[in-house]
Formats: sequence, C-alpha cells, structure tokens
Amino acid sequence: TRSLHIVGAGMAGSEAAWQAAEMGVPVVLHEMRPRVGTFAHRTGQFAEMVCSNSFRSDDDERNAVGLLHWEMRAARGLIMEMASAHRLPAGGALAVDRDPFAESVTARLRAHPLISVVEEELAELPSDGDWIIATGPLTSSSLAESIRAVTGAQSLAFFDAIAPIVYAESIDMSVAWRQSRYDKGETEDERTAYINCPMTRDQYEAFIDALLAAEKTEFHEGETAGYFDGCLPIEVMAERGRETLRHGPMKPVGLTNAHKPQDKAHAVVQLRRDNKLGTLYNIVGFQTKMKYGAQTSVFRMIPGLENASFARLGGIHRNTFLNSPTLLDDRMRLKLRRNIRFAGQVTGVEGYVESAAMGLLAGRMAAAEILGRDLPPPPPETAMGALITHITGGAEAKTFQPMNVNFGLFPPIDAKGGRRGRKDRYKAYTDRAKAAFTEWLAA
Ligand code: FAD
Repeated sequence: TRSLHIVGAGMAGSEAAWQAAEMGVPVVLHEMRPRVGTFAHRTGQFAEMVCSNSFRSDDDERNAVGLLHWEMRAARGLIMEMASAHRLPAGGALAVDRDPFAESVTARLRAHPLISVVEEELAELPSDGDWIIATGPLTSSSLAESIRAVTGAQSLAFFDAIAPIVYAESIDMSVAWRQSRYDKGETEDERTAYINCPMTRDQYEAFIDALLAAEKTEFHEGETAGYFDGCLPIEVMAERGRETLRHGPMKPVGLTNAHKPQDKAHAVVQLRRDNKLGTLYNIVGFQTKMKYGAQTSVFRMIPGLENASFARLGGIHRNTFLNSPTLLDDRMRLKLRRNIRFAGQVTGVEGYVESAAMGLLAGRMAAAEILGRDLPPPPPETAMGALITHITGGAEAKTFQPMNVNFGLFPPIDAKGGRRGRKDRYKAYTDRAKAAFTEWLAA
C-alpha cells in the first residue's frame, strides 16, 4: 500500500494520521516542532492547544460544536477520545488538561505500528505522492510562500479579518430592508444580497462613543511580525475621526429606506449575505479587536440588530488560510494538484474541534483513495458535512473568512406547526444530524 504523508501534527494532522492508520494505510507524519517553533506553540508535543484549554460546549443535543464532538466520537476520533480522558470539571463545556492530553495523543500516534514520524519542516508543496497539508494558522513561511506560488497570492491570506456574522432570522426586518447600494447587480439575487440598518445622527454619535469606549484585545507578541498589511479595525477607523466610518463602511449614499422612503439616514450599516443558504449575514467592514462582550452590546445598538444573535463575533488574528471555496474540491483536494489535500484551520475552519474534524475527514478520504475506494463527504445535515460543504462551496468565495461550526451552516429546518422554540429547533437539527451521520458511517 502507498504511504500517506501528512504535514503538521496539530489538531488536524494528528486526527488525520490516526484515521488513515486505523484504516490500514501507512502514514508518514511530518512535524517541524520542536526544531522550528511558532510564536504560539510552547512544546514539541502533537496536538498542542495554543491558547484556551476548552473544546467548548459538550451538549450534543442543542449545540453545534457539541454535535461535532458526538460525530467525532462516533467516528472513533483520537482527539475526542484523549480530550474526554483528560477532561477537567467545567460545567457543560469540555475543558481539557492540556499537557497530559497532548502527551497522550503524541504517545498513541508514535506507538501506532503504521505511523512513522519525521521531525522536519516541509518547505515546498510536493509534486507527487499522496499528501495532506495540515500546517495550521501558523504555517511556516517557506511553505506558505510555496503554496502562494502554486495557488496565486490572492488565494492564501496571512490574517483573518472577521466581521461579525448574524443569523438572518434574528434581524428585525421591520426596521432593516434589502437593497444593494445604487441597486447594483445583474440579478434580483445580487440586488437583495444586502440588508441595511439606518441610523439617525444621535444613534450614530452614541454608536461612535460606544466604539471608542469599548474594551479591546491586543495582538500577541510576534503575531504581526513581517506580515500585518493593515486592514483596519472599525474602532481604529473611529479613532481617526468621528466621521470616518460615515464616509467609509457606514456611508448612507445610494440607499433608500424601504419603510420610510422620505427619511434620509445619517449613516447605514450594511450586512452582506455570507452563505448560499442565506441564513448568515456579515456586517460589512466591521472587523474588530473589541472584546466579545463589548461586541455584542455595541452591535446591538444598531437599529434592526437589537435582538441579533451572532453566529460568530469579529476578530483579527494571524491566520494562514486558503480561499477553499475556489481552490478545493468536495474531497478537500487541491483542484490544481489532486494528490494534495488540505485539512484543519488552513482550510478556513476555526477552532480546535473544527480543525480536528476536518483532519478526520481528510484522513479518511485520503486513505479510502489509496485503498481504491471513494469516500463522499458526509451529508450537509451533519455538523462535519455542514462545515465541509461551507468551506468547499457553500461560502461566498469573495468574502471568505474562517468559520466556526454553527446551525446557520445547516440546511434550515422549517418551524412547522407554529413557532418552535429555538431550543426545540436545535434538538431537531441534532436529531437529524445524528441519523444522517450514522448512516454515512455505516456506508
Ligand atoms: P495546529 O494545531 O497549529 O497544527 C499545525 C502543525 O503544523 C503545528 O504543529 C506546526 O508546528 C506544524 N507546521 C507548520 N508548518 C509546518 C511545516 N512547514 N512543516 C512541518 N510542520 C509544520 N482555537 C481554539 O479553539 N481556541 C483557542 O483559544 C484558540 N486560540 C488560538 C490562539 C492563537 C495565537 C492561534 C494562532 C490560534 C488559536 N486557535 C484557537 C486556533 C487553533 O490554532 C486552531 O484551532 C487549531 O490548533 C488548528 O489546528 P490545526 O491542526 O489546523 O493547526
């Protein structure tokens, strides 16, 4: 049997190696640490948790990341097994004792008869053999340059600039309206891809005050070294002048309030459709380093967003990631070189659990291919399926930014027979997902 090469023994690469080896495929796992470090990793262990020690909610009935835990356990994932074995008390969250966790993942992989480890940095994208690249948000710079040379400079970002994402159903459409600026767009679909929230002068001034006063996070030491190319957080724009936003992302021109056509808005906040399903909208130009608590209270000051629920909050981080919707096929292969798959955070998912889940899929798909079989992705009703569908085609490629798992990525379930409570609806999503995932695993 041909060997599968996996680069990066982080969350994704470790899980991919385990899955492939358990399917009987020999694996060569390439990891640059401890020889070459990153600004965030401290050890030479595999699957090091670089920051928080949380795998987030473990509730598999009403929470999307908890559902992802369930699916990974059902697929006998190594990362979930070791996380559960080293769990710390934390209410409904899965908090993990990070050092014994990483040590046990490392020990299990090193002891596997089909896995060998090479402690070396891969500097160039290989042209032949079977590969999974799972080098994460801090992919080494030589490899990143080589990926850029193959895919084009626009296709690999070094920072994310995440604008908050809102569930469409939580926007008050009696205040907001759909319209693209100057009604631009070839089709009705394009002309209605934006939702607009109007502000009066007083509302705008109060909003600027809140932005300036909000608590912010700082970049980590070494995070911006040689890279940050200046995509300004909104609060920095506001610091440069109180009118800056009104002449930038919040300009009111070319828009007419559908509810009050005679009113001229002083400023307008625009949201843009973020996925083909139309369940998620991002707030245009609102990348921010405000702390999460501050973001929810500041953004709920926007008329129409008073009751907004957020699928994800904004941020700006060092993060190497591909424009997966244009570059990867639905088997996570690079369309330009199908012998290479990508997995983990570098594919544009965000978080330990999501990265490990994409490693699990890439490992199984690559191993299946080597064994002469084809493994289709799980259906989009499952958490893994929803994520892979999003990154390989469901997301808008032009504005693609890393994504956490959330119910907005799933095909919607209609609230039949009157308004179901949100909790019941989430239970319906997870029931549907578990049935679909079980069926996919069995096949
Ligand atoms: P990683 O776990 O980073 O693994 C990639 C591996 O590839 C590393 O071991 C690296 O050494 C290796 N590597 C890189 N380049 C090469 C090369 N050329 N050759 C060989 N090996 C290479 N997520 C959360 O869920 N919670 C958090 O609190 C959190 N905080 C974060 C804080 C920071 C500063 C950063 C940068 C990220 C944070 N993340 C957090 C995101 C987190 O990194 C990912 O969720 C997760 O670790 C990604 O898994 P991965 O396997 O894709 O990458």
